[in-house]
Amino acid sequence: MKFITYNTKNFRKIEYLKNLPEQVKHEIEVVSKVLPFKTNNYVIDYLIDWENFETDPVFILNFPNRNMLHEEQFKEVEKAYTQQLPEKEFLGIVNKIRLQLNPHPANQLSNVPKLDGEALPGVQHKYRDIVLFFPSQGQTCHAHCTFCFRWPQFVKDLDLQFSMREIDMLTRYIKENEYIHEILFTGGDPMVMSPLTISKYIDQIFEADIPHLDTIRFGSKSLTYWPFTFIPGHSDEAEDMLSLFRRIVDKGKHLSFMAHFNHPVEMDNSAVEEAIYNIRQTGAEIRTQAPVLRNINDDAEIWREMWLKQVNLGMVPYYMFIERETGPYAYFELPIAQVYDIYRNAIKYTGSLAKTVTAPVMSASMGKVHVMGVIDNPADNDRYFMMQYVRHRNVEETYKPFLTHYDEKATWFNQLVRTDADMILTAEEE
Ligand SMILES: *Cc1c(COP(=O)(O)O)cnc(C)c1O
Ligand code: SF4
Repeated sequence: MKFITYNTKNFRKIEYLKNLPEQVKHEIEVVSKVLPFKTNNYVIDYLIDWENFETDPVFILNFPNRNMLHEEQFKEVEKAYTQQLPEKEFLGIVNKIRLQLNPHPANQLSNVPKLDGEALPGVQHKYRDIVLFFPSQGQTCHAHCTFCFRWPQFVKDLDLQFSMREIDMLTRYIKENEYIHEILFTGGDPMVMSPLTISKYIDQIFEADIPHLDTIRFGSKSLTYWPFTFIPGHSDEAEDMLSLFRRIVDKGKHLSFMAHFNHPVEMDNSAVEEAIYNIRQTGAEIRTQAPVLRNINDDAEIWREMWLKQVNLGMVPYYMFIERETGPYAYFELPIAQVYDIYRNAIKYTGSLAKTVTAPVMSASMGKVHVMGVIDNPADNDRYFMMQYVRHRNVEETYKPFLTHYDEKATWFNQLVRTDADMILTAEEE
């Protein structure tokens, strides 16, 4: 199957969209001036129920709608768009709104490591044992998610992209820091790169011969947005991609494919099943992660079904996240307490093979905060969240349970008060 992308320039050509009300198309066009929009023929043909598009989870995941902006923001862009303001003036308005949408949550920009005093662009090193690598050719995706916290890097004119070709510098850096034993290729989606490009990176890593580097991970949503990448006969490069995976495994490395699934419908066709099977045949492990999103998957039954399916297909549930405060999060966010309930009501009925999931988790600037539970303390008749950092900039701070006062409405960690530090956490500490 041939890969065809659609963005606002050509999306009116999509057969299914012809029947959408004009108003809906107009709203998609307006919102996508602010939030990046991209879809493709697989998503459109396989994943969306067009009869019920308004509530369809993948439609909402992939197509912007007017409620993803605040009413005033929507009206301002709509007006500028309808009036056909000059390009420069129009971009001024659009960029102003983008900056209102908190483009850099959790200080992502502050994790760039240095080698001989020189910053390694395209690399983030936050947790002791693992580096993130953003290869420059992998900074886009087969389609874009409306909730994505990486949306600023798809918006070229903001110039906030991470990218780098200097895999040499990275391998030297890893070599000098023996406690780093994992590299995670991320993006965007590294699986948009050709197997040849990825091979060049992998070959350089192998040539550097770093014994303490035992694990390679790819973070990807390609099983949802273009599973043909892993199906020979449907994509010219699938055989090469699968051989590359086998080559990594044969080298004795642990290869973990960090798959991103938001809804069981994404695992519901023979193409994705075949892709999963083929990846597993290479010896790679597939682990799954996703945030809980209002309007898409805010229901325990959806998560139960999702984890059951993942386990049935041989995948390993890994993280369930609380949606970050960026982009159109007002549309997607949920109280921590509610996400915890969804988790608990889902996991109770899923069976033990889904216990591998750590959930729910907030990726904050100090680390990944795991909401372990809600405690009613009869001694003081009060209610608490029990939490721990499963990842922290300072490894000594991990796996140390602590309590915060319960707050039914809080949607992020910085809105809670720790019992052992009777103060509201500052943004710095968050
Ligand atoms: C989540 C994350 C990782 C990977 O964390 P794991 O818990 O090992 O999956 C690495 N670096 C950064 C900056 C992260 O946010
Ligand atoms: S595939 Fe991942 S990186 Fe790409 S838009 Fe979706 S969430 Fe963001």
